[in-house]
Amino acid sequence: HKSVVHNFGAGPCILPRPVLEEAQRGLLDFADTGLSILEVSHRSPPFQRLMDQTEAQVRQLLQVPDTHSVLFLQGGASTQFAAVWYNLMASQVIRDRFPRDQLPTVDYIITGSWSKKAAQEARKLGGKVNIVVDASQNPHTHHSFGGIPPQDDWSFTGPGGRDAAYVYYCDNETVHGVEWDHIPQVSPDTILVCDMSSNIMSRPVDVSRFGVILAGAQKNMGPAGVTLVIIRKDLLVHVDDSVVCPPFPTMLDYQVADANASLYNTPPVFAIYVSHLFNQWMLNHGGVTAMEGFSRQKSGLLYDTIQKSQLYQCPVSTPYRSRMNVVFTLTQPDLQAEFLREAEKRHMVQLKGHRSVGGIRASLYNALPIASVEALVAFMKEFERQYP
Ligand code: PMP
Repeated sequence: HKSVVHNFGAGPCILPRPVLEEAQRGLLDFADTGLSILEVSHRSPPFQRLMDQTEAQVRQLLQVPDTHSVLFLQGGASTQFAAVWYNLMASQVIRDRFPRDQLPTVDYIITGSWSKKAAQEARKLGGKVNIVVDASQNPHTHHSFGGIPPQDDWSFTGPGGRDAAYVYYCDNETVHGVEWDHIPQVSPDTILVCDMSSNIMSRPVDVSRFGVILAGAQKNMGPAGVTLVIIRKDLLVHVDDSVVCPPFPTMLDYQVADANASLYNTPPVFAIYVSHLFNQWMLNHGGVTAMEGFSRQKSGLLYDTIQKSQLYQCPVSTPYRSRMNVVFTLTQPDLQAEFLREAEKRHMVQLKGHRSVGGIRASLYNALPIASVEALVAFMKEFERQYP
């Protein structure tokens, strides 16, 4: 039963119970239309209102300035890895800064497997990708992806990426549990692009600092199926020259999505609907500032328990320990399977680390109650007493 299961899954994320209950009602009768949200036309006024309200909620929650567009797209964050590169290569504001006869270099900061995948995608499409820093070889932490190396060790294209088309990074690496505690310092002449899939809506963001923010909804603000893209409007104007910028698929074109208010084709109606309900839940609970407070409380409790124990260890260096995905290992690795089994018996589920790194990962997304973390911490102490 949902109310007694503690869901530490890394995504799709836990959703607030009232959101699921309201979604259940909307499944049968959406906005008094007598139709299911799954049956209503995406061009109908009630759905149009829902789209408008959802955009307004995102603008309110993240204080998105008028200089930026808010888009609801499909294909997950992974599709945006390609779309970001295409769109920014086509962007007139960017291309005007560089000679027209060759593609400009793009700078990627690699702090875990998601930023690495994004860099690989840009390279695959023909991008000239410079790796600013690759934290998989961090001499300071001795762990693969165990933190963020000091900025003195980075190699941007030009000072602060001034000679790069854009600088890309991932704010929270979901697999490795590494989160930025600041915005990287880059040249004001470059464009900052950030993947916030797994920590969006968990703290205030100065959106004006970013050219593009992308985030799959299913980590912290909704179900899988809708992806949020926030983009500076002036970047949406494309160069009008197919030699300078080869055409790319319409469905990846942010300019088309923007011109059609995210209704160029049939949008993921149900995912948008549930995100809308989740946004309302966040607004009712104090918005992202409150979410930040909860996240610090929850992750603090868990990191503190790890810190004080002999059995549990966190491989991430302190300033970069994620508030969202708490990754840890057991000093006696053969106890891990037992740990997960015992946790499961106590209805604590989806605690297994990502298949690429193993270990334990407790994801503490916005909808996870503090009581779930208290239950986990109590169990961890009990388990350690049993296997000292
Ligand atoms: N970026 C981050 C930080 C993620 O956590 C994920 C999903 N695990 C992705 C990108 C990929 O998202 P999607 O599955 O929506 O393509």
